[in-house]
Amino acid sequence: MKYDYLVVGSGLYGAIFAHEAKAKGKSVLVVDKRPNIAGNVYTEKQEGINVHMYGAHIFHTNDKRVWNYITQFAEFNRFTNSPVANYKGELYSMPFNMYTFNKMWGVVTPEEATTKIEEQKKAVRSGYDMDILPTDIVTYEKDTLEFLDDLNTSNQKMINMTFLITCYGRTKRELESLMQRVSGIIQQANCDLRCLQYLQEQGLMASAPIGCNETGIERTLDNNYFNALYQGIPIGGYTKMVENLLDGIEVRLNTDYLEHKAELDALADKVVYTGPIDAYFGFKLGTLEYRSVRFENETLDIPNFQGNAAVNYTDRETPWTRIIEHKWFEFGKDEDGNDLPKTIISREYSSEWKAGDEPYYPVNDEKNGQLYAKYKELADKETGVIFGGRLGEYKYYDMDTTIASVLNMCEKELG
Ligand code: FAD
Repeated sequence: MKYDYLVVGSGLYGAIFAHEAKAKGKSVLVVDKRPNIAGNVYTEKQEGINVHMYGAHIFHTNDKRVWNYITQFAEFNRFTNSPVANYKGELYSMPFNMYTFNKMWGVVTPEEATTKIEEQKKAVRSGYDMDILPTDIVTYEKDTLEFLDDLNTSNQKMINMTFLITCYGRTKRELESLMQRVSGIIQQANCDLRCLQYLQEQGLMASAPIGCNETGIERTLDNNYFNALYQGIPIGGYTKMVENLLDGIEVRLNTDYLEHKAELDALADKVVYTGPIDAYFGFKLGTLEYRSVRFENETLDIPNFQGNAAVNYTDRETPWTRIIEHKWFEFGKDEDGNDLPKTIISREYSSEWKAGDEPYYPVNDEKNGQLYAKYKELADKETGVIFGGRLGEYKYYDMDTTIASVLNMCEKELG
């Protein structure tokens, strides 16, 4: 039998295309080289917990069309991402908000926080110029010294956290320019710094580089990180959601398209390819780079490890950048509402990507952008093949933008 479409990759992009094509009466074969469906959103049930096997995935979107679409395939819970920063054993709320400021400076009202932030900005810019001190304190030498001491510590903490968070710049270029700008401030403040690998989480930039005085700081008691109109985790896991998308569609796992290209191509009129674009062309123009992250999973015989789904580690001493405790994505309960006795955590480490590693985050810098543009030219000439998704388009797509992109493509392709 000849299929209308061969879909390479059973991630969100491939699964949605396959679903939509089938709904239009087309015949579809999906292949994936992994032993499981769902691509990077794959979750696996262990100890009753849906473990996010390729990194924590929190669905968030302001796009109603996307939300209405995806909720046909799963019921979503009300999970709201409220990460916490652990800095030298102390917990701070993220994004920086009134909880953070209360902990650092003891301020209670947004007005007090604003005043303090303005003081801090001046201090940062001027290297603790005396003009930040209220004049009545200047007259009391001991108090002044203590005040300076205290300010220095608070400032160091703030700059450290700010810098570390700033280092999550979404692109290498963005990161480099931020680092340059922040390093001036750091020299003045004589701070102890650590440069993290970027983890490219959209929204982290909104956490407020205070020294750069550019982005907003929450002056509310709201720990909602993404602040999206729609947010949650599919009840029962992402894999179940993708299974629902692929219902009634033939899927062949452990099948590497590129290894069996001629034979698989012969099976269908058209190909939708969601693997890496450079691999499709045998890397003939060069290798696109990715950013990587390494996960170490551990099952613990206790019900609660950190009391929150995500804790970011921001000090130099800690080798991991984040710990995910998967059960808290679903409130520590199974689908019947029972508490789960064990817990599973993933420590995340920054890691250098080398060819052959799992391609996680495309690097949107000039060098890779130019190389991608050349591959795109080749792709445009490739008849009968549609390149899509994170790897096929070499684009930083969140789940919602992946869905928007494939739905737009379906409209064009399937009508
Ligand atoms: P993928 O899920 O990568 O699917 C591609 C599929 O193609 C894979 O299954 C792969 O095995 C298969 N494939 C590749 N080559 C071949 C081949 N030669 N033959 C056969 N099969 C092949 N988004 C959010 O909205 N919120 C988050 O919190 C979030 N967290 C993330 C955390 C991490 C660590 C990462 C990497 C991404 C995160 N994302 C998040 C983004 C999200 O994962 C993507 O938007 C989405 O998974 C993209 O789907 P895709 O189908 O394009 O790609």
